[in-house]
Amino acid sequence: MKIGFIGLGAMGYPMARHLSKEHDVTVWNRTREKAERHSREHGTKLAAGLASTAAADVIITMLPTSKEVDEIVDQLLPVVQHGTLWIDATSGDPNISRETAKRLAAKGVTFVDAPVTGATVGAENATLTIMVGAASTEEFERAREILKLNGKTIIHVGPIGSGHAIKVLTNSIMGATVWITSECLLLAKQLGIDLKTALAVTNAGSGRSNASENLLPMRLADHNWPLVFKLVHHDKDIRIANQLSHQLHASTPMLALTQHLFTASLHELGDQADYIEVAKVIARMNGASWD
Ligand code: NDP
Repeated sequence: MKIGFIGLGAMGYPMARHLSKEHDVTVWNRTREKAERHSREHGTKLAAGLASTAAADVIITMLPTSKEVDEIVDQLLPVVQHGTLWIDATSGDPNISRETAKRLAAKGVTFVDAPVTGATVGAENATLTIMVGAASTEEFERAREILKLNGKTIIHVGPIGSGHAIKVLTNSIMGATVWITSECLLLAKQLGIDLKTALAVTNAGSGRSNASENLLPMRLADHNWPLVFKLVHHDKDIRIANQLSHQLHASTPMLALTQHLFTASLHELGDQADYIEVAKVIARMNGASWD
C-alpha cells in the first residue's frame, strides 16, 4: 500500500517508522530536516513537496490540531486522488473533522478520525490504543488494516468525529487526575510524609491511577521531567472537551475547572512545557517545591 505520512513529531516519527515495515511510505514534515532524517534512518521516501504525499492509497496526518490538518487539506484538495483513504491521527476537534470529511468526500476521499492514546512509548512500541470515528464498518476495517501496525487495541467508536470526541474526554479525565493527585501528594509532603511512601500507599489503595503509578513518581520523587506530551496539546484537548459540553448545554463543573487550571498553567509554563509540569504550578501556588 502507498502511504503519504504528514507530521513527524513526537508521535508521527515512530508511527511512520512502523508503517514503513509493510508499506511504501512517503514522509513530509514542515521542518524538512526531520523528514530527511526519517528517510535516512528508516528507508522511507522523502516527499519532494507536500503534493507528492497525495500520490498514495492512504494519507495519514499527525499534527497538533484540526486547524493544521485543515490547512494541509486545503493544499492537497486540488491533487488528492479519488478513492484515497485519509486517516487523521491528530487529537482533533469533532466539529471540524466532520466538515473536513465532507470537503474530502466531494473529491471521492474517505476520511476517518483515528486519534491515539498510549503516549510516545506506545508509539515507539506500536502498542497504541486507537479510537476510530468512521462512517461505516467497511471504512473502519480499511483503516484498521493500516493502523494495526501502530496499535494493539483499535476500536470503532462511532461515526466520523467520535474518535476525536472520546479522545478529548479521556484526556480530560487524565488531566483532572494528574492535578488532584499532585495536590494531595504535595499536601502529604507538607505534612512530613515521605513522598515515595505517600506514592506507595496511594498505589496500594483506592487513589491509584496511571498518574500515581506511572506519570508522577519519576517527576515528583526522582526529579526527572521529560518532555513527552506538550501541555499546549493537553490544554487544547481539554478545551475541545469543554466546547463539546457547551454545545450540549451540559453541566460539567469539574471539566470547566480542569480547563481553567490547565490553561493558567500553560500561560505560566509556556508552550514547550510537558503536561505533567502542571505539578510545578501546584507547588508554586503553595510556596513549595518538589525538590
Ligand atoms: P509534536 O509537537 O511533537 O509534533 C507536531 C508535528 O506537527 C510536527 O511534525 C510539526 O512539524 C507539525 N506541525 C506543527 N505545526 C504545523 C503546521 N502549521 N503545518 C504543518 N505541520 C505542522 O506533537 P505530538 O507528535 O506530540 O502530537 C501530535 C498529535 O498527537 C497532537 O494532536 C497530540 O495532542 C496528539 N497526541 C500526542 C501524544 C504524546 O504523548 N505526545 C499522545 C497522544 C496523542 P515541525 O517538526 O516542523 O514542528
